[in-house]
Amino acid sequence: MIRDNIKNILEELPSGIELEAATKKRSVSQILEAIDAGIKIIGENYVQEAQSKFTVVGKKVRWHLIGHLQKNKVKAAIKIFDMIETLDSVELASVLDKECERAGKVMPVLIEVNSAAESSKSGVLPENVEDLAGQILEYKNLKLMGLMTMGPFVELAEDIRPFFKKTKEIFDKIKQSAAANIDWKYLSMGMSDTYRIAYQEGANIVRVGTAIFGPR
Ligand SMILES: *Cc1c(COP(=O)(O)O)cnc(C)c1O
Repeated sequence: MIRDNIKNILEELPSGIELEAATKKRSVSQILEAIDAGIKIIGENYVQEAQSKFTVVGKKVRWHLIGHLQKNKVKAAIKIFDMIETLDSVELASVLDKECERAGKVMPVLIEVNSAAESSKSGVLPENVEDLAGQILEYKNLKLMGLMTMGPFVELAEDIRPFFKKTKEIFDKIKQSAAANIDWKYLSMGMSDTYRIAYQEGANIVRVGTAIFGPR
């Protein structure tokens, strides 16, 4: 089932759009099956959960952090993850930069945008994204590569479109204004119910859990 689901989604996705398997609460054997079926990126929400899976799965896939990163988990996180999609403050950037320097590593990062400006959600408000991007560019052990958003919970998938559009606008604006030497290229949006809308609106990474693995 996992294999068929992945095959169908990969066939459907236009070229240039990467399928990231969101693997929170999924077992190592499910993850290995997904990798065998063609998954190249997995997204984990929690550092601790990722740690135990990483011990078994290792580097045969790229690991992205898609949940909020606590400062006291940074050191452990940089041992596992190839990208942090959820950078949302200069304080976190500073801690991350310092630990990456210590580890002799440059970490690819995305800024998480709180595109619906919900008080309950992490991520940076749309109007503050450009400022934060400018600050992150100062850190030489972080490689800023784009934006990620969750968007609000919606009953009707179509209702999320304006928030994806908004995030794409910010993405394009920074692309135009950014220094020519930054590798600004990833827009991570869309989940099982909304990934089609996400790629229509310009996402090039979609994060899919349920539509691959079934209900959690
Ligand atoms: C769980 C999760 C997903 C995938 O959600 P599904 O609805 O299961 O596809 C995507 N992004 C983030 C940040 C998640 O936590």
